[in-house]
Amino acid sequence: MADKPLFPVVDGNYRMDAEPHVGIGIILSEDGMDEVSFRVPAPDYRLRSGDDTAATPLAPGDYVIRRLNSHFIVEAEGPCEPVRVEKAGPVIIKAPERARVARPGDGILVRDIVAGRGFHWAKTIDQTLTGDIEFHIPPDSSHVVMVNRLALEEYLTGVITGEMSGECPIEFMKAQAIAARSWLLGQPRSPHPGQPFHWCNDDCCQRYQGTGGWSERAVQAITECRGQVLITAGKRYCDARYSKSTGGISEDAVLVWNEEIEGLVSRIDAPAGSAAERFFPVTDDNIEEYLTGDWLKACDCFASPAVVPEESITRYLGRVDESGTYFRWSVSRTQDELRKSLVERGGLADLTEVKGLRTGRRGRSGRLYELHVDYVSTDGGEKTATLSPEYNIRAGLSTSFLYSSCIIVRPQHDGAGKLTGVEILGGGWGHGAGLCQIGGLGRALRGQNADEILMAYYTDVTLESIYE
Ligand SMILES: [Zn+2]
Repeated sequence: MADKPLFPVVDGNYRMDAEPHVGIGIILSEDGMDEVSFRVPAPDYRLRSGDDTAATPLAPGDYVIRRLNSHFIVEAEGPCEPVRVEKAGPVIIKAPERARVARPGDGILVRDIVAGRGFHWAKTIDQTLTGDIEFHIPPDSSHVVMVNRLALEEYLTGVITGEMSGECPIEFMKAQAIAARSWLLGQPRSPHPGQPFHWCNDDCCQRYQGTGGWSERAVQAITECRGQVLITAGKRYCDARYSKSTGGISEDAVLVWNEEIEGLVSRIDAPAGSAAERFFPVTDDNIEEYLTGDWLKACDCFASPAVVPEESITRYLGRVDESGTYFRWSVSRTQDELRKSLVERGGLADLTEVKGLRTGRRGRSGRLYELHVDYVSTDGGEKTATLSPEYNIRAGLSTSFLYSSCIIVRPQHDGAGKLTGVEILGGGWGHGAGLCQIGGLGRALRGQNADEILMAYYTDVTLESIYE
């Protein structure tokens, strides 16, 4: 089911007869949940299991669903009408037919959903979900998996308000929606094979947090760009990946994923004639100046604080993001912290002491493709290991996640010459390929429209409407 190509499109035949529906994993096996608490907001929701013909009506109120071996038990909680239903899984809660489009806050409220799995901003939040809800127990899991099945455009409204806030300028929201739609259709197969859903709700796929963060502006943005996607020169849906901040120059896909992706080529994210042009490409020789030089005082890069002021950035970020400075940043790591993260997340299980960090190959945005770690191993010998690509570097240098691998490393030593820690100076947030969310926001604040924003980040693509 989930392992076949998802959209049998491509080679020029990218039109669809109707808007597709998508299944999004909201609670995953790895979240380790055995029960889920939810609120039914209105009459006419119905509960049924896969092969039931008779459905059980659910009155408005609070419920909890628990797993009991291969069955689910659904019970009403609190003052609402008592109900206790036992069903063989999977169990589906069917939403009533709706005569109108979904509104902000519509849908079933589901409590304590994980957002930001594995990242530094991980937390749990309550979410309202329009469409149908399914509960599964996959064969390889003892935990509950919850899937939200809904129309693509409603899903995208939840993506643009999950990835960034519903307060962003409308032209940025349209650009983000078109990128998100293209990305989803451009995936040849599910990132979650064998699961009862194609995409998850988090940064591993696209951040989707239901209808709670929807704004009137987001609904309008989706309406205005309905069905529009980016098509590559090879006549395929563009696999339009995106990240929070390029740091000034975007990255080549091949540097990040070890594969070429049509349309995702390194670009300077600044107006023509910008001082940023002299750093293209960023190299070992110019990166110190790129990250810390005086040119930053008059920096005109679209993702820079001069265009998107840092004090206003929280307004525009997603509701689970932390505010901070992402264009240029620095962090310190002690010897102990480095050892812990390199052992636990960098895969260097035999490391006992870090001797030094040496930077290797970089992409054109300055992001490291390789980081060499010199260390003392458990057998007392000295070794060198290489972390690669950028994702593993970001994981290995932080117990949560380093913002990006566009970094220089300044070592600190004690009197005996032993490494006591490092200062890491960096630029940007995320892999840096494709649309830059903060840069795209900056472009919209400077008056660019969605088309101009997209063409600035994706190369040799056209915008096409694929369904009415
Ligand atoms: Zn995913």
